[in-house]
Amino acid sequence: MKLTTLILTVFLTSNLLAQEMYTLETCETDIAYNVPQFYQDFFHCVKARVSESGDYVNLYFNAKPPYQTWYYDERNITSSDNPNWIPFESFGPGSYQNPNVIVEQDYVISIPVNPVPRSGITIDASTVDGEVNTSNYEYPMGTIGAALNGVTMFNSLAAPGDVIENEVLSFDLYNGHPAGETYHYHTISQGPLEVLQKKLPTVVTNSTPGSAELEIYGINCDGVVIMGCTELNGSSIDTANYSFDAQNGHVHDMIGEDGTEYFTDRYHTHMCYTEITDEDTDGDGYAQHEFSPEISYYKTPNLGVSNDRCGAMSSPIEPDAVLGLDIDAIPNSFVLYNNYPNPFNPETVIDYDLPESGFVNITVYDINGRKIKELTNSSQSAGFKSVTWDATNMMGQPISAGMYLYTIQTDNFLETKKMMYIK
Ligand SMILES: [Zn+2]
Ligand SMILES: [Zn+2]
Repeated sequence: MKLTTLILTVFLTSNLLAQEMYTLETCETDIAYNVPQFYQDFFHCVKARVSESGDYVNLYFNAKPPYQTWYYDERNITSSDNPNWIPFESFGPGSYQNPNVIVEQDYVISIPVNPVPRSGITIDASTVDGEVNTSNYEYPMGTIGAALNGVTMFNSLAAPGDVIENEVLSFDLYNGHPAGETYHYHTISQGPLEVLQKKLPTVVTNSTPGSAELEIYGINCDGVVIMGCTELNGSSIDTANYSFDAQNGHVHDMIGEDGTEYFTDRYHTHMCYTEITDEDTDGDGYAQHEFSPEISYYKTPNLGVSNDRCGAMSSPIEPDAVLGLDIDAIPNSFVLYNNYPNPFNPETVIDYDLPESGFVNITVYDINGRKIKELTNSSQSAGFKSVTWDATNMMGQPISAGMYLYTIQTDNFLETKKMMYIK
């Protein structure tokens, strides 16, 4: 019932959005409270659910980029009425604009919560040959992961035998392009860094690949995290203590800026490159790979015939668990979630977690800071909470369309988020 409502809402929202600017602020992010914190903290424009057995995170996303690009529809008419459209810029001789345009493409990947390494896998030059479909360990061609902004991440190889930099199709300002009609990044792309620049402005002030304070691109279907040239906490890579394999991967705990341990002993790949080269510039015995994993490191069980070769699909490996709130459960920390749906009309839901009992105030403001309505102003017990706003002010009158802010305040916690009301 709830899922049906959600699907209907997503459908209606995307239709209503046809002529609205689609951005990180307006895309829908809907991550269940029991999904590992990593997804809650870093992902945007996705829906994430834990599967029935609890073994997978089902990550639903769309190929649509939340940015302006010359691949948005209607680019061939002089005055485009698509607000996400920008004029085409050539990348020079040999490059041309992909004739396809972006369409809505829904995907889901089932990422193991606790991935198990393939037995005895050693990634050396012989397993990373730069060609697709020459090893059972390889990711398949196509969508093998999700970038932080909900865009699909393709195999890092463009086409059998071709490396990305040899592609004649132009990449847009975010290093993305459509293949067929599926907009995607290859995992060398810097585009997803834009997410962090917006989501974590106090952490990331520079998103230039190779010199950002914190870089993360996304996650592959087997659970391999794709990093840039820093660790998750923003520190530089400790090359003295961790040796790299042939695809610039290694295993250690992944700890965030604030000390949160997101993953224990997780294999991840660093794309740490200063120039495109096939030389062994760092003297580690391998060519300096600037692309993301070609070989999947972890097993993805229960995939049937295709066995370990995970990828994006039209349905998850295992259905979502029913999203019931356990009344006895107490959250570990204060969390204010993104409202859903967003943008919304006629109403939206705001979920929040209270780890301890106490006074809670949730108030909606307009973007000029004027108070619109108090949604909650009372003492509450600890637990997983929720409040609905019907887009009316204190007098019960309907408000005008636009961006609004909502703030939660408790004795120990204060946070503000944005939401968009549309008509
Ligand atoms: Zn491509
Ligand atoms: Zn690392």
